[in-house]
Amino acid sequence: MPRSCTVCEHPEREAVDRALVGGASNRSVASLYDVSEAAVRRHKANHLPAKLAKAHEAEEVSRADDLLGQVRALQSKTLSVLLRAEGAGDLRTALSAVREARGNVELLAKLSGELDERPVVNLNVSPEWLELRTVIVGALEPYSEARGAVLTAIEGTGNG
Ligand SMILES: [Zn+2]
Repeated sequence: MPRSCTVCEHPEREAVDRALVGGASNRSVASLYDVSEAAVRRHKANHLPAKLAKAHEAEEVSRADDLLGQVRALQSKTLSVLLRAEGAGDLRTALSAVREARGNVELLAKLSGELDERPVVNLNVSPEWLELRTVIVGALEPYSEARGAVLTAIEGTGNG
């Protein structure tokens, strides 16, 4: 890594990387960790994807290795899409890339065992939940007000 990168040399570099991967803006990361916005931008574009890959390479992941590699590749791709979309001012694409990236990170964390102690169930991708949701919404069809309220409540819980 080049010596000139203040983010790479930052004592809380890992936290910075996590924030960036989680979709925090360059500006908020820069002010939070007291580095320049330009440095954050440069670091995100040039160092972050390789770093993510290396961090996980260092861990012992026997069977999940292949899968991990795939998710890492996916994440690198997602991040490059994010950067390009940001550069082009395409916020819609940037936002969806952020969401993708977040999902990748969750997956990476799970694969490498980081979340073992506090398993997170993502209701939105659980087939059982989706089925139940369809049944609930269908049953409330005649009661549009109740249906709206339930949908709002459901959407609210999905964002935790
Ligand atoms: Zn860097």
